[in-house]
Amino acid sequence: MNQSAPQFSLEFFPPKTEAGREKLQTAQKELFSTIQPAYASVTFGAGGSTQEGTYDAVMEIQQQGVDAAPHLSCIGATKDSITAILRGYQEKGIHRIVALRGDMPSGMGASGDFRYANELVSFIREESGDHFHIEVAAYPEFHPQAPDAFTDLQNFKRKVDAGADSAITQYFYNIDGYLRFGEDCAAMGLDLPIVPGIMPITNYTNLARFSEMCGAEIPRWIKERLIAYRDDTESLRAFGLEVTTRLSQDLLSAGAPGLHFYTMNQSAPTLQVFNNLN
Ligand code: FAD
Repeated sequence: MNQSAPQFSLEFFPPKTEAGREKLQTAQKELFSTIQPAYASVTFGAGGSTQEGTYDAVMEIQQQGVDAAPHLSCIGATKDSITAILRGYQEKGIHRIVALRGDMPSGMGASGDFRYANELVSFIREESGDHFHIEVAAYPEFHPQAPDAFTDLQNFKRKVDAGADSAITQYFYNIDGYLRFGEDCAAMGLDLPIVPGIMPITNYTNLARFSEMCGAEIPRWIKERLIAYRDDTESLRAFGLEVTTRLSQDLLSAGAPGLHFYTMNQSAPTLQVFNNLN
């Protein structure tokens, strides 16, 4: 059971246009002033597709006085390119990294110096010692490419053994999977904060598509209601808010060390859940 105050963190993606950048700045202003997050992270396109965008977005967060955590995915990357990125962040005073394997965009080959995230975690430790607090990804409902649940747990352990400090989960709507994942990790002797990732529900089609890709289950009792709302966006969002608020409350009551919000660069859905918690 977690005894200290829960920590909240926020995730963003690098905007592609000037309009997106302005929208993101407004959203961050609102989110940062209300939530005062422990840190804010920025995603990274596998294959380096968003490398500059991630860097710029990280610097903008840092300038707002919030601890910024770049995501770094290793699939397709060389050791030299990762070293250059790490040095760049180190020089700018970044102390936290979310270390991932990533998924190669279709059509791109996966040649490079890394195959799995545990190799990236080891490499970051070799290159920069304890400079970075390393977050890794965790999958309470298991990674879709894992051959089986127990192998996936063992593979999660490899990342922790390689030097990860804490983990952020893929989003989920079934608390039992998260609690069992925590119990399984404890049974394997893993003692690190595993922070649940919270995905606000604002649109069924996008959520269903994304969940299909990343292997997150939308429970039937939620899915059928979301489908039934059809174009009634207001009712769908009200229901989505109720679901994610209750999930967040239950997670914190069960001892989760904090919550990591997938903001999708919008302020309102995350702020509504956060305000409901208070
Ligand atoms: P890994 O931990 O390497 O696991 C990938 C698969 O390989 C799993 O099935 C695992 O069981 C297996 N495996 C792991 N290690 C080994 C090993 N040593 N030997 C054999 N099998 C192994 N993607 C992005 O592109 N950019 C992002 O910014 C990004 N941010 C994310 C943030 C969070 C919090 C989460 C949960 C996911 C994020 N993703 C991101 C998605 C992530 O990159 C994908 O889920 C990807 O498929 C797996 O990445 P991983 O780091 O979990 O990989």
